[in-house]
Amino acid sequence: MVENGDLIKCPKCGNYGRVVWVSKDGRTAAVRCSSRHRFTLRRNISTPTNSENIRFEKNIVFLVNI
Ligand SMILES: [Zn+2]
Repeated sequence: MVENGDLIKCPKCGNYGRVVWVSKDGRTAAVRCSSRHRFTLRRNISTPTNSENIRFEKNIVFLVNI
């Protein structure tokens, strides 16, 4: 059983992140990964691709099935 504060693997990079939320049925959790992830900004999708639309972000929260 995963609980808030546990460390589980990030689905993107495999590093361990901290659980910040668990669903009531215990099947879904949100993990905050401290690694940097490539992150594409979607709101400027109509503009040509340039470096401003791709950033590296830390502490992104992912939903994972457990
Ligand atoms: Zn990660």
